[in-house]
Amino acid sequence: MHTDARTLEDGRLLEADLCIVGAGAAGISIAREWIGDAKKVLLLEGGGFEYDPKMQDLYRGENVGLPYFPLQAARLHYFGGTTGHWAGFCSTLDDIDFVARPWVPHSGWPITRASLDPYYARAHRVLELGPYDYDVARWRRRNPSLVPLALDARTVWTKMWQFSPPTRFGTRYRDEIVNARNVHLLTHANVCEVETNESASAVSGLRIRTFEGKELRARARHYVLACSTIQNARLLLASNRRASTGLGNAYDLVGRYFMEHLEMPSGELVFTGKQVPSTKIFEFVWGQTKAGAEMALSDAMQREGRMQNATVSPRPATPGQAPKSTFQNHPAEQMEARRRAEQSGRTNSTPADPPPGPPAAQVPRVHELHTRQEQAPNPASRVTIARERDALGVPRARLDWRLTPLDRRSFRAFYEVLGRELGRSGVGRVRMLDWVTSPNNAPWPATLGGGWHHMGTTRMHDDPKQGVVDPNCRVHGVANLSVAGDSVFPTSGSANPTLTLVALSLRLSDRLKTVLG
Ligand SMILES: Cc1cc2nc3c(=O)[nH]c(=O)nc-3n(C[C@H](O)[C@H](O)[C@H](O)COP(=O)(O)OP(=O)(O)OC[C@H]3O[C@@H](n4cnc5c(N)ncnc54)[C@H](O)[C@@H]3O)c2cc1C
Repeated sequence: MHTDARTLEDGRLLEADLCIVGAGAAGISIAREWIGDAKKVLLLEGGGFEYDPKMQDLYRGENVGLPYFPLQAARLHYFGGTTGHWAGFCSTLDDIDFVARPWVPHSGWPITRASLDPYYARAHRVLELGPYDYDVARWRRRNPSLVPLALDARTVWTKMWQFSPPTRFGTRYRDEIVNARNVHLLTHANVCEVETNESASAVSGLRIRTFEGKELRARARHYVLACSTIQNARLLLASNRRASTGLGNAYDLVGRYFMEHLEMPSGELVFTGKQVPSTKIFEFVWGQTKAGAEMALSDAMQREGRMQNATVSPRPATPGQAPKSTFQNHPAEQMEARRRAEQSGRTNSTPADPPPGPPAAQVPRVHELHTRQEQAPNPASRVTIARERDALGVPRARLDWRLTPLDRRSFRAFYEVLGRELGRSGVGRVRMLDWVTSPNNAPWPATLGGGWHHMGTTRMHDDPKQGVVDPNCRVHGVANLSVAGDSVFPTSGSANPTLTLVALSLRLSDRLKTVLG
C-alpha cells in the first residue's frame, strides 16, 4: 500500500507493529522480508518516487574536515535511496576485518564473518548477484581462460568481486512494496525527530513533517532507522528533547568513527615479462554474472607489517595523462548528469564503472594502480549537527572527516609488499606515486578520495561504552530502536559496503521477527 504523506490531514497518527525510517538498500531489504506477514509495517520515506532538488537539499551539510564530496551529492533522498547512484561492486568483508587487531585501534566486530554467511547468500538474491561464491579457484574452473597473476597468495591474493546489474531498489522493488497489503509505504514523509519516554529508554513515536507544513506522527512497537550513515547519526543527535546530547548517545559515541574507503591512484605497474599477462581476470562475464578480481593484501602480511586491509586494481594507463583523483572522476555535476542520462535511458553504465579494458591481445605494459584501503576507526572522524537548520527545521549535518598516521603509513607498507611480490614473481615492477613515499606527516595529496562509502557513526559493540548498537543492531539503552545500514560497521574492511549492509539488514529482520512474535 502506498500513500503520499502530503495528502493526509495534519496531525494524523499512523500505527504499525514495525516502523522503518528510510526506503533505501537497508530499509527496502527489511520491508520486503515482511511482505505477507501478519504484522503491519510502516515504511517512511522522506522523498517521493523521483529525484527532487528541494528534497535533496535536506542533505546539504558542512564539510569541516578533509576535503570531501558535497554531502547533498553523496546520497540520494528519494525512494530507493542511493542505489539510484550506486555502481554495484560487491564483495564480502574478510575474516580479518572482524578481528580486533592490536595495531588498528578500535578494530573488530562483536560478530564473526562466518555468522554472516547465510545472510550474505540471501543478500546475493536481493542484489541480483550470481552464486554466493568468491573462491578464485572455483571461478577458474567455471572459466579456464581466467589466469590470475602468478603471485604467492600468502602475500598478495586474488580477491573476487561480483557486480550487481546494479539493482536500483527504487524501480526494482517499487511494485512489490506498493502492492503489499501489510506494508504501508508513506512517501514525502520526513522523520524529523525520534520521540521517547521520560527516561529516553524507549521510543514513543516519530514526528514526520512535509514541505507543506503538515506534521504527522507514527507509532509502532519497534522502530528501525535506515536513513544511511550520516542521516542516522543526524537524526539521533537531533532527537535531543529528553536525552540532551541526543538519543543513544549517553557515551558520546553517536556520529563518531565515520569511515570511508580510501580509493586513490597510488602507483604504476609496468609488466616486465616477455608476455604481458591477460588482465581479463580483473573484469569478466560468466553467464549472467559480471565478475572481476583485485590484488589483495594477505592476512599474514597485514599482521607482519602492522598495516590495514587493502586491495588494488590495475587499469590500463592512458599515455601522457596524470592519474585522476576520485573527486575528479566523480564530481557532483558529473554524477547528476549521469543520473539524468541513465533515467532517460541514454546509458547503462555507472559513475564508478572501470574504464572498459582493451582486448587481451593489446594489453598495454603500463597500468595505473588504484588502491582501495580501509580507514582505521577514528573517534575524531565524526558527524555532528550544525547550527543551521534545513527547510523542515532539522539541524544540518556537519562532517569532520579525519584520517590517522596509520592510514597513511599503510599505503606505503602495502606498496612495498606489492612491489616485492610482483618483482619476485617476474610479473612486473611497481612505481609508487610521490605522495605514497613522502613522510607520514606530509599533507594528503590532492587526489585524496573516498569511494562514496559512508560507514561508522552508530558502531556495533557489546559494550555500551564503546558502541551505539549491540550485536543485534539494537541501540544500547533504548528498548525498541534498531539501526540498519553501514553506520553500524565498527570496522570497514576494504570491500564496498552494500552487500554487507544488506546481509546485516536481513539478519536484523530475522531478529525482529522473534522480538515482535
Ligand atoms: C556514486 C556512488 C557509487 C556507489 N557505488 C557502490 C558500489 O559499487 N558498491 C557498494 O557496495 N556501494 C556503493 N555505493 C554506496 C551505496 O549506494 C550505499 O552503501 C547504500 O545505498 C546505502 O544504503 P542505505 O539504505 O543505508 O542508504 P540509502 O540507500 O541512502 O537510503 C536511505 C534512505 O533513507 C531516506 N531518508 C533519509 N533521511 C530520512 C528521513 N529523515 N526520513 C525518512 N526517510 C529518510 C532517503 O531518502 C533514502 O531513501 C555507492 C554510492 C554512490 C553515491
